[in-house]
Amino acid sequence: MYQLETEAFFDSAHFLADYFGRCENLHGHRWRIVCRIGAEALQETGSEAGMVCDFGRFKHAVRTLADSLDHTFLVQEGTLSPETITALKAEGFALTMLPFRTTAENLAAYIFRRLHEEGFTPTQVEVDETPNNRAIYQPENGKG
Ligand SMILES: [Zn+2]
Repeated sequence: MYQLETEAFFDSAHFLADYFGRCENLHGHRWRIVCRIGAEALQETGSEAGMVCDFGRFKHAVRTLADSLDHTFLVQEGTLSPETITALKAEGFALTMLPFRTTAENLAAYIFRRLHEEGFTPTQVEVDETPNNRAIYQPENGKG
């Protein structure tokens, strides 16, 4: 299999509800995402001949995804009261509401799905929340 890999960064805050440790408190990370797409065969015709896909198109998609999360507060739906959400928005804070616990594992799977929805064939997404700690999502069937 041929694979392309690119990385991007974003800064955002989060907390883990119902977690009994430091991560239950609001804190931030410089998240690093490393995305891979793959193909068994290269494109045979057109401007992407000899490629898995145009690297520029892939990089742009990954950066756009990272930018959509950058400098926002990643909030798992249902973990803050409506009053708190209203107050944060009234202060002008940017919230990204997500239907899952905002762990590195879930973010990796989320980014994988988003790339798939955009027509790419992701094979693996890595999310680092610190230089030493990372989660890797690599579904067995490659479909996510
Ligand atoms: Zn964290």
